[in-house]
Amino acid sequence: MRVTVIGAGYVGLVTAACFADVGNTVVCVERDPQRIAALRKAQVPFYEPGLSELVARNAQASRMRFVEDVAQGLPGAQVCFIAVGTPPLPSGQADMSQVRGAAAEIGRCVDGPLVVVQKSTAPVGTVAMVQGIIDQELAARGVQHWVRVVSNPEFLKEGSAIDDFTRGDRIVLGSRDERAVAVMRELYRPFNRNHEKIMVMDPASSELTKYAANTMLATRISFMNELARLAEAVGADIEQVRLGMGVDQRIGSHFLYAGAGYGGSCFPKDVKALAFMAREAGLRAELTEAVDSVNQRQKQRMFEKIAAHFAADGLRGKTIAVWGLAFKPNTDDMRDAPAIDLIEALLAAGARVRAFDPVAMESARRLWGEREGLELVADAPSALEGADALAVVTEWHAFRSPDFEQLARSLKARVVFDGRNLWEPASVRAAGLSYHGIGRG
Ligand code: NAD
Repeated sequence: MRVTVIGAGYVGLVTAACFADVGNTVVCVERDPQRIAALRKAQVPFYEPGLSELVARNAQASRMRFVEDVAQGLPGAQVCFIAVGTPPLPSGQADMSQVRGAAAEIGRCVDGPLVVVQKSTAPVGTVAMVQGIIDQELAARGVQHWVRVVSNPEFLKEGSAIDDFTRGDRIVLGSRDERAVAVMRELYRPFNRNHEKIMVMDPASSELTKYAANTMLATRISFMNELARLAEAVGADIEQVRLGMGVDQRIGSHFLYAGAGYGGSCFPKDVKALAFMAREAGLRAELTEAVDSVNQRQKQRMFEKIAAHFAADGLRGKTIAVWGLAFKPNTDDMRDAPAIDLIEALLAAGARVRAFDPVAMESARRLWGEREGLELVADAPSALEGADALAVVTEWHAFRSPDFEQLARSLKARVVFDGRNLWEPASVRAAGLSYHGIGRG
Protein backbone atom coordinates (compact mmCIF):
# COMPACT_ATOMS: atom_id res chain seq x y z
CA MET A 1 0.00 0.00 0.00
CA ARG A 2 0.97 3.63 -0.33
CA VAL A 3 1.20 5.12 3.14
CA THR A 4 1.91 8.64 4.36
CA VAL A 5 2.92 9.36 7.95
CA ILE A 6 2.71 12.93 9.25
CA GLY A 7 5.21 13.50 12.09
CA ALA A 8 8.52 11.63 12.24
CA GLY A 9 8.90 11.45 16.04
CA TYR A 10 9.23 8.28 18.12
CA VAL A 11 5.78 7.06 17.06
CA GLY A 12 5.62 8.30 13.45
CA LEU A 13 9.05 7.10 12.46
CA VAL A 14 8.58 3.66 14.02
CA THR A 15 5.18 3.34 12.30
CA ALA A 16 6.65 4.41 8.96
CA ALA A 17 9.70 2.14 9.16
CA CYS A 18 7.73 -0.93 10.28
CA PHE A 19 5.16 -0.57 7.49
CA ALA A 20 7.93 0.04 4.93
CA ASP A 21 9.78 -3.03 6.14
CA VAL A 22 6.89 -5.32 5.17
CA GLY A 23 6.79 -3.94 1.61
CA ASN A 24 4.63 -0.82 1.70
CA THR A 25 5.77 2.43 0.11
CA VAL A 26 5.91 5.04 2.85
CA VAL A 27 6.39 8.80 2.74
CA CYS A 28 7.29 10.50 6.04
CA VAL A 29 6.27 14.13 6.39
CA GLU A 30 8.31 16.04 8.99
CA ARG A 31 8.35 19.81 9.34
CA ASP A 32 11.25 20.10 11.79
CA PRO A 33 14.23 21.15 9.62
CA GLN A 34 16.82 19.37 11.78
CA ARG A 35 14.87 16.13 11.90
CA ILE A 36 14.22 16.13 8.15
CA ALA A 37 17.86 16.94 7.34
CA ALA A 38 19.02 13.95 9.43
CA LEU A 39 16.38 11.63 7.97
CA ARG A 40 17.33 12.51 4.41
CA LYS A 41 20.77 11.12 5.25
CA ALA A 42 18.97 8.04 6.63
CA GLN A 43 19.98 9.09 10.18
CA VAL A 44 17.50 8.79 13.03
CA PRO A 45 17.41 12.08 14.97
CA PHE A 46 16.87 10.36 18.35
CA TYR A 47 17.87 7.13 20.08
CA GLU A 48 15.68 4.07 19.63
CA PRO A 49 17.31 0.62 19.49
CA GLY A 50 17.21 -0.94 15.99
CA LEU A 51 15.48 2.01 14.33
CA SER A 52 18.53 3.38 12.49
CA GLU A 53 19.12 0.05 10.75
CA LEU A 54 15.43 -0.26 9.84
CA VAL A 55 15.24 3.27 8.42
CA ALA A 56 18.53 2.91 6.51
CA ARG A 57 17.47 -0.42 5.01
CA ASN A 58 14.08 0.83 3.84
CA ALA A 59 15.35 4.19 2.59
CA GLN A 60 18.01 2.33 0.60
CA ALA A 61 15.32 0.10 -0.92
CA SER A 62 13.26 3.21 -1.84
CA ARG A 63 10.39 2.06 0.34
CA MET A 64 10.79 5.12 2.57
CA ARG A 65 11.31 8.73 1.66
CA PHE A 66 11.17 11.97 3.59
CA VAL A 67 9.48 15.25 2.69
CA GLU A 68 8.78 18.41 4.64
CA ASP A 69 5.16 19.13 3.83
CA VAL A 70 1.91 17.31 3.37
CA ALA A 71 1.42 18.73 -0.14
CA GLN A 72 4.46 16.73 -1.31
CA GLY A 73 3.78 13.68 0.83
CA LEU A 74 0.07 12.98 0.42
CA PRO A 75 -0.75 12.66 -3.30
CA GLY A 76 -1.48 9.05 -4.22
CA ALA A 77 -1.62 7.79 -0.61
CA GLN A 78 -4.28 5.24 0.41
CA VAL A 79 -3.65 5.62 4.14
CA CYS A 80 -2.36 8.67 6.03
CA PHE A 81 -1.28 8.46 9.67
CA ILE A 82 -1.35 11.49 11.95
CA ALA A 83 1.47 10.93 14.48
CA VAL A 84 2.16 14.47 15.68
CA GLY A 85 2.73 15.69 19.23
CA THR A 86 -0.10 16.37 21.72
CA PRO A 87 1.84 18.05 24.55
CA PRO A 88 0.08 19.30 27.69
CA LEU A 89 -1.25 22.85 28.07
CA PRO A 90 -0.90 24.43 31.54
CA SER A 91 -4.48 23.29 32.33
CA GLY A 92 -3.53 19.66 31.67
CA GLN A 93 -5.58 19.63 28.47
CA ALA A 94 -3.85 18.07 25.44
CA ASP A 95 -2.68 20.75 23.01
CA MET A 96 -4.41 19.72 19.79
CA SER A 97 -2.95 22.39 17.53
CA GLN A 98 -0.56 19.98 15.73
CA VAL A 99 -3.39 17.49 15.11
CA ARG A 100 -5.71 20.25 13.85
CA GLY A 101 -2.92 21.57 11.61
CA ALA A 102 -2.25 18.14 10.13
CA ALA A 103 -5.99 17.58 9.52
CA ALA A 104 -6.31 20.89 7.67
CA GLU A 105 -3.29 20.08 5.50
CA ILE A 106 -4.79 16.68 4.64
CA GLY A 107 -8.09 18.33 3.67
CA ARG A 108 -6.27 20.81 1.45
CA CYS A 109 -4.15 18.17 -0.36
CA VAL A 110 -6.10 14.89 -0.49
CA ASP A 111 -6.52 13.78 -4.10
CA GLY A 112 -8.43 10.48 -3.87
CA PRO A 113 -9.99 7.94 -1.49
CA LEU A 114 -8.10 7.98 1.81
CA VAL A 115 -8.19 6.45 5.27
CA VAL A 116 -6.82 8.95 7.81
CA VAL A 117 -5.48 7.21 10.90
CA GLN A 118 -5.43 9.27 14.07
CA LYS A 119 -2.49 7.76 16.00
CA SER A 120 -1.55 10.67 18.25
CA THR A 121 -2.83 10.23 21.81
CA ALA A 122 -5.77 12.61 21.80
CA PRO A 123 -9.00 13.10 23.77
CA VAL A 124 -12.35 11.58 23.00
CA GLY A 125 -13.94 13.44 20.11
CA THR A 126 -10.73 13.88 18.12
CA VAL A 127 -11.76 11.51 15.30
CA ALA A 128 -14.95 13.53 14.83
CA MET A 129 -12.99 16.79 14.99
CA VAL A 130 -10.42 15.66 12.41
CA GLN A 131 -13.20 14.37 10.12
CA GLY A 132 -14.97 17.75 10.44
CA ILE A 133 -11.83 19.74 9.56
CA ILE A 134 -11.11 17.58 6.50
CA ASP A 135 -14.75 17.73 5.30
CA GLN A 136 -14.70 21.52 5.66
CA GLU A 137 -11.49 21.86 3.63
CA LEU A 138 -12.90 19.56 0.93
CA ALA A 139 -16.10 21.62 0.79
CA ALA A 140 -14.03 24.83 0.52
CA ARG A 141 -12.17 23.30 -2.43
CA GLY A 142 -15.47 22.19 -3.96
CA VAL A 143 -14.22 18.60 -4.39
CA GLN A 144 -15.54 15.28 -3.13
CA HIS A 145 -13.39 12.37 -2.02
CA TRP A 146 -14.15 9.39 0.20
CA VAL A 147 -12.11 10.21 3.33
CA ARG A 148 -12.69 8.40 6.62
CA VAL A 149 -10.90 9.02 9.91
CA VAL A 150 -10.09 6.01 12.12
CA SER A 151 -8.67 6.07 15.65
CA ASN A 152 -5.66 3.76 16.13
CA PRO A 153 -3.92 4.56 19.43
CA GLU A 154 -0.32 3.53 19.81
CA PHE A 155 0.85 1.44 22.78
CA LEU A 156 4.59 1.17 21.99
CA LYS A 157 7.20 1.89 24.64
CA GLU A 158 10.32 3.89 23.86
CA GLY A 159 13.32 1.58 24.15
CA SER A 160 11.46 -1.42 22.68
CA ALA A 161 9.34 0.43 20.16
CA ILE A 162 9.93 -1.78 17.11
CA ASP A 163 9.16 -4.98 18.97
CA ASP A 164 6.09 -3.43 20.57
CA PHE A 165 4.85 -2.19 17.19
CA THR A 166 5.36 -5.42 15.31
CA ARG A 167 4.46 -7.80 18.15
CA GLY A 168 2.17 -5.71 20.34
CA ASP A 169 -0.60 -7.13 22.52
CA ARG A 170 -3.41 -5.54 20.51
CA ILE A 171 -4.22 -3.33 17.54
CA VAL A 172 -7.13 -1.08 18.49
CA LEU A 173 -9.21 0.45 15.70
CA GLY A 174 -11.92 2.98 16.46
CA SER A 175 -14.31 3.27 13.52
CA ARG A 176 -17.85 2.50 12.45
CA ASP A 177 -16.93 2.43 8.76
CA GLU A 178 -16.54 -1.08 7.36
CA ARG A 179 -14.58 -0.04 4.29
CA ALA A 180 -12.07 1.93 6.38
CA VAL A 181 -11.70 -0.97 8.82
CA ALA A 182 -11.11 -3.37 5.90
CA VAL A 183 -8.26 -1.14 4.64
CA MET A 184 -6.73 -1.09 8.12
CA ARG A 185 -7.02 -4.87 8.50
CA GLU A 186 -5.18 -5.30 5.21
CA LEU A 187 -2.44 -2.85 6.22
CA TYR A 188 -1.89 -4.53 9.62
CA ARG A 189 -2.14 -8.10 8.24
CA PRO A 190 1.64 -8.78 8.46
CA PHE A 191 1.55 -7.93 12.20
CA ASN A 192 -1.64 -9.89 12.88
CA ARG A 193 -0.63 -13.38 11.80
CA ASN A 194 0.01 -15.31 14.99
CA HIS A 195 -3.43 -14.68 16.51
CA GLU A 196 -6.18 -12.11 16.06
CA LYS A 197 -5.03 -8.88 17.71
CA ILE A 198 -7.33 -6.41 16.00
CA MET A 199 -10.06 -4.97 18.22
CA VAL A 200 -12.62 -2.84 16.44
CA MET A 201 -14.65 -0.49 18.58
CA ASP A 202 -16.36 2.87 18.33
CA PRO A 203 -13.98 5.86 18.06
CA ALA A 204 -14.75 7.24 21.53
CA SER A 205 -13.96 3.93 23.23
CA SER A 206 -10.76 3.56 21.23
CA GLU A 207 -9.64 7.08 22.19
CA LEU A 208 -10.44 6.48 25.86
CA THR A 209 -8.69 3.07 25.87
CA LYS A 210 -5.30 4.70 25.32
CA TYR A 211 -5.71 7.11 28.25
CA ALA A 212 -7.14 4.33 30.42
CA ALA A 213 -4.16 2.03 29.79
CA ASN A 214 -1.53 4.69 30.52
CA THR A 215 -3.35 5.98 33.58
CA MET A 216 -3.71 2.44 34.97
CA LEU A 217 0.05 1.89 34.62
CA ALA A 218 0.79 5.26 36.21
CA THR A 219 -1.64 4.41 39.02
CA ARG A 220 0.31 1.27 39.86
CA ILE A 221 3.54 3.28 40.04
CA SER A 222 2.06 6.03 42.21
CA PHE A 223 0.46 3.43 44.49
CA MET A 224 3.84 1.78 45.01
CA ASN A 225 5.46 5.16 45.64
CA GLU A 226 2.82 5.95 48.24
CA LEU A 227 3.38 2.53 49.85
CA ALA A 228 7.15 3.18 49.77
CA ARG A 229 6.65 6.20 52.03
CA LEU A 230 4.60 4.09 54.39
CA ALA A 231 7.25 1.36 54.30
CA GLU A 232 9.89 3.91 55.32
CA ALA A 233 7.69 5.19 58.15
CA VAL A 234 6.91 1.76 59.59
CA GLY A 235 10.21 -0.01 58.92
CA ALA A 236 9.20 -2.29 56.01
CA ASP A 237 11.08 -2.92 52.76
CA ILE A 238 9.02 -2.05 49.67
CA GLU A 239 11.06 -4.52 47.60
CA GLN A 240 9.89 -7.40 49.79
CA VAL A 241 6.34 -6.05 49.68
CA ARG A 242 6.52 -5.79 45.87
CA LEU A 243 7.58 -9.41 45.55
CA GLY A 244 4.88 -10.53 47.95
CA MET A 245 2.21 -8.64 45.99
CA GLY A 246 3.41 -9.41 42.48
CA VAL A 247 3.10 -13.20 42.68
CA ASP A 248 -0.63 -12.82 43.18
CA GLN A 249 -1.98 -13.51 39.71
CA ARG A 250 -4.79 -11.01 40.22
CA ILE A 251 -2.13 -8.31 40.65
CA GLY A 252 0.84 -9.38 38.50
CA SER A 253 4.40 -8.14 38.82
CA HIS A 254 4.59 -5.42 36.15
CA PHE A 255 4.78 -1.71 36.99
CA LEU A 256 5.07 -2.30 40.72
CA TYR A 257 8.41 -0.55 41.15
CA ALA A 258 8.76 2.27 43.64
CA GLY A 259 11.25 4.88 42.48
CA ALA A 260 12.04 8.51 41.77
CA GLY A 261 8.65 9.04 40.05
CA TYR A 262 7.44 8.41 36.53
CA GLY A 263 8.33 10.74 33.65
CA GLY A 264 8.48 10.65 29.89
CA SER A 265 6.39 12.06 27.10
CA CYS A 266 3.29 10.00 27.89
CA PHE A 267 2.35 9.15 31.48
CA PRO A 268 2.54 12.66 33.01
CA LYS A 269 0.63 14.31 30.17
CA ASP A 270 -1.88 11.51 29.63
CA VAL A 271 -2.80 11.32 33.32
CA LYS A 272 -3.36 15.09 33.37
CA ALA A 273 -5.32 14.98 30.11
CA LEU A 274 -7.63 12.24 31.46
CA ALA A 275 -8.32 14.34 34.56
CA PHE A 276 -9.03 17.34 32.32
CA MET A 277 -11.36 15.28 30.13
CA ALA A 278 -13.31 14.25 33.23
CA ARG A 279 -13.63 17.88 34.38
CA GLU A 280 -14.90 18.83 30.91
CA ALA A 281 -17.51 16.09 31.27
CA GLY A 282 -18.64 17.60 34.59
CA LEU A 283 -16.92 14.88 36.67
CA ARG A 284 -13.96 14.77 38.97
CA ALA A 285 -11.39 12.01 38.35
CA GLU A 286 -10.26 11.97 41.99
CA LEU A 287 -8.08 8.88 41.74
CA THR A 288 -6.41 10.11 38.54
CA GLU A 289 -5.71 13.52 40.10
CA ALA A 290 -4.17 11.79 43.12
CA VAL A 291 -1.95 9.66 40.84
CA ASP A 292 -0.58 12.88 39.36
CA SER A 293 -0.04 14.65 42.68
CA VAL A 294 1.62 11.61 44.29
CA ASN A 295 4.00 11.54 41.32
CA GLN A 296 4.82 15.24 41.51
CA ARG A 297 5.66 14.82 45.18
CA GLN A 298 7.68 11.67 44.46
CA LYS A 299 9.85 13.55 41.98
CA GLN A 300 11.04 15.68 44.93
CA ARG A 301 11.80 12.61 47.04
CA MET A 302 15.42 12.08 46.04
CA PHE A 303 16.25 15.72 46.64
CA GLU A 304 14.57 15.57 50.07
CA LYS A 305 16.67 12.54 50.99
CA ILE A 306 19.91 14.18 49.83
CA ALA A 307 19.05 17.47 51.59
CA ALA A 308 18.19 15.59 54.79
CA HIS A 309 21.49 13.69 54.70
CA PHE A 310 23.50 16.91 54.36
CA ALA A 311 21.24 18.93 56.68
CA ALA A 312 24.03 19.64 59.18
CA ASP A 313 26.23 21.74 56.88
CA GLY A 314 23.85 22.22 53.90
CA LEU A 315 24.24 21.45 50.21
CA ARG A 316 26.05 24.66 49.24
CA GLY A 317 29.48 23.71 47.89
CA LYS A 318 28.69 19.98 47.82
CA THR A 319 29.10 18.04 44.58
CA ILE A 320 26.54 15.41 43.68
CA ALA A 321 27.19 12.85 40.93
CA VAL A 322 24.03 11.91 39.01
CA TRP A 323 23.86 8.70 36.99
CA GLY A 324 20.94 8.59 34.55
CA LEU A 325 19.12 11.51 32.90
CA ALA A 326 16.67 9.85 30.47
CA PHE A 327 13.23 9.20 31.94
CA LYS A 328 13.90 5.47 31.58
CA PRO A 329 16.63 3.22 30.13
CA ASN A 330 17.12 2.64 26.39
CA THR A 331 15.91 6.05 25.33
CA ASP A 332 17.40 9.54 25.06
CA ASP A 333 14.02 11.10 25.85
CA MET A 334 14.21 13.50 28.78
CA ARG A 335 10.69 14.89 28.55
CA ASP A 336 9.43 15.24 32.16
CA ALA A 337 12.32 13.08 33.42
CA PRO A 338 12.68 12.91 37.26
CA ALA A 339 16.40 13.72 36.83
CA ILE A 340 15.40 17.24 35.74
CA ASP A 341 13.54 17.88 39.02
CA LEU A 342 16.42 16.49 41.06
CA ILE A 343 19.14 18.47 39.26
CA GLU A 344 17.16 21.72 39.31
CA ALA A 345 16.54 21.33 43.05
CA LEU A 346 20.22 20.54 43.74
CA LEU A 347 21.41 23.57 41.75
CA ALA A 348 18.85 25.81 43.47
CA ALA A 349 20.22 24.62 46.84
CA GLY A 350 23.75 25.65 45.83
CA ALA A 351 25.13 22.17 45.08
CA ARG A 352 27.26 21.37 42.05
CA VAL A 353 26.16 18.47 39.83
CA ARG A 354 28.22 16.15 37.63
CA ALA A 355 25.80 14.19 35.46
CA PHE A 356 26.09 11.29 33.04
CA ASP A 357 23.70 9.23 30.94
CA PRO A 358 24.67 6.50 28.44
CA VAL A 359 22.61 8.04 25.58
CA ALA A 360 20.81 11.20 26.71
CA MET A 361 23.79 13.58 26.87
CA GLU A 362 22.74 15.39 23.69
CA SER A 363 19.18 15.78 25.01
CA ALA A 364 20.66 17.15 28.26
CA ARG A 365 22.83 19.65 26.36
CA ARG A 366 19.77 20.80 24.40
CA LEU A 367 17.82 21.18 27.64
CA TRP A 368 20.39 22.97 29.79
CA GLY A 369 23.10 24.30 27.45
CA GLU A 370 25.83 25.92 29.55
CA ARG A 371 24.44 25.90 33.07
CA GLU A 372 26.23 27.30 36.10
CA GLY A 373 26.98 24.48 38.54
CA LEU A 374 26.12 21.65 36.15
CA GLU A 375 28.72 19.59 34.36
CA LEU A 376 27.66 16.99 31.79
CA VAL A 377 30.49 14.46 31.79
CA ALA A 378 31.65 11.79 29.36
CA ASP A 379 31.24 8.64 31.43
CA ALA A 380 30.00 7.25 34.74
CA PRO A 381 33.40 7.29 36.56
CA SER A 382 34.00 10.94 35.55
CA ALA A 383 30.77 11.91 37.31
CA LEU A 384 32.33 10.70 40.58
CA GLU A 385 35.40 12.94 40.36
CA GLY A 386 35.37 15.24 43.38
CA ALA A 387 31.82 14.18 44.25
CA ASP A 388 30.49 13.93 47.80
CA ALA A 389 27.58 11.63 46.95
CA LEU A 390 26.08 9.63 44.08
CA ALA A 391 22.42 9.62 43.04
CA VAL A 392 21.21 7.08 40.48
CA VAL A 393 18.00 8.17 38.77
CA THR A 394 17.64 5.90 35.69
CA GLU A 395 17.92 2.12 35.89
CA TRP A 396 20.36 1.60 33.02
CA HIS A 397 21.88 -1.90 32.96
CA ALA A 398 25.36 -0.40 33.18
CA PHE A 399 24.55 1.03 36.64
CA ARG A 400 23.32 -2.24 38.16
CA SER A 401 26.59 -3.65 39.47
CA PRO A 402 29.13 -0.91 40.18
CA ASP A 403 32.26 -1.59 42.21
CA PHE A 404 30.98 -0.38 45.60
CA GLU A 405 34.45 -0.38 47.15
CA GLN A 406 35.63 1.91 44.38
CA LEU A 407 32.57 4.09 45.00
CA ALA A 408 33.41 4.23 48.71
CA ARG A 409 36.94 5.41 47.86
CA SER A 410 35.66 8.04 45.37
CA LEU A 411 32.77 9.66 47.22
CA LYS A 412 33.91 12.12 49.88
CA ALA A 413 30.78 11.68 52.03
CA ARG A 414 30.59 7.93 51.26
CA VAL A 415 26.86 7.99 50.53
CA VAL A 416 24.66 6.77 47.67
CA PHE A 417 21.03 7.55 46.86
CA ASP A 418 19.45 4.75 44.86
CA GLY A 419 16.36 6.22 43.18
CA ARG A 420 15.49 2.92 41.46
CA ASN A 421 16.25 0.38 44.20
CA LEU A 422 18.89 -1.17 41.94
CA TRP A 423 21.20 -2.25 44.72
CA GLU A 424 21.11 -4.57 47.71
CA PRO A 425 21.47 -2.28 50.74
CA ALA A 426 23.53 -4.85 52.69
CA SER A 427 26.18 -5.17 49.92
CA VAL A 428 26.44 -1.41 49.57
CA ARG A 429 26.79 -0.93 53.33
CA ALA A 430 29.37 -3.73 53.52
CA ALA A 431 31.59 -1.60 51.27
CA GLY A 432 31.47 1.21 53.82
CA LEU A 433 28.85 3.38 52.12
CA SER A 434 25.63 4.84 53.53
CA TYR A 435 22.68 3.65 51.47
CA HIS A 436 19.38 5.45 50.84
CA GLY A 437 16.86 3.71 48.58
CA ILE A 438 13.15 4.32 48.08
CA GLY A 439 10.88 2.69 50.63
CA ARG A 440 13.52 0.53 52.26
CA GLY A 441 12.64 1.27 55.85
P1 NAD B 1 7.30 13.80 18.86
O1 NAD B 1 7.06 15.16 19.43
O2 NAD B 1 8.60 13.10 19.09
O3 NAD B 1 7.09 13.87 17.27
C1 NAD B 1 6.06 14.54 16.63
C2 NAD B 1 6.63 15.11 15.33
O4 NAD B 1 5.57 15.62 14.52
C3 NAD B 1 7.60 16.27 15.53
O5 NAD B 1 8.85 15.93 14.95
C4 NAD B 1 6.95 17.44 14.79
O6 NAD B 1 7.89 18.27 14.15
C5 NAD B 1 6.09 16.71 13.77
N1 NAD B 1 4.95 17.49 13.25
C6 NAD B 1 3.98 18.15 13.92
N2 NAD B 1 3.10 18.71 13.07
C7 NAD B 1 3.51 18.39 11.81
C8 NAD B 1 3.01 18.69 10.50
N3 NAD B 1 1.89 19.38 10.33
N4 NAD B 1 3.71 18.23 9.45
C9 NAD B 1 4.84 17.52 9.62
N5 NAD B 1 5.36 17.20 10.83
C10 NAD B 1 4.70 17.64 11.92
O7 NAD B 1 6.07 12.93 19.38
P2 NAD B 1 6.02 11.35 19.69
O8 NAD B 1 6.71 11.05 20.96
O9 NAD B 1 6.33 10.59 18.46
O10 NAD B 1 4.45 11.23 19.98
C11 NAD B 1 3.48 11.44 18.97
C12 NAD B 1 2.12 11.11 19.53
O11 NAD B 1 2.07 9.72 19.89
C13 NAD B 1 1.76 11.87 20.82
O12 NAD B 1 0.37 12.13 20.82
C14 NAD B 1 2.11 10.88 21.91
O13 NAD B 1 1.34 11.09 23.08
C15 NAD B 1 1.75 9.57 21.28
N6 NAD B 1 2.51 8.41 21.79
C16 NAD B 1 3.83 8.54 22.08
C17 NAD B 1 4.54 7.44 22.55
C18 NAD B 1 6.00 7.57 22.90
O14 NAD B 1 6.51 6.66 23.57
N7 NAD B 1 6.70 8.61 22.50
C19 NAD B 1 3.89 6.20 22.70
C20 NAD B 1 2.54 6.11 22.37
C21 NAD B 1 1.87 7.22 21.91
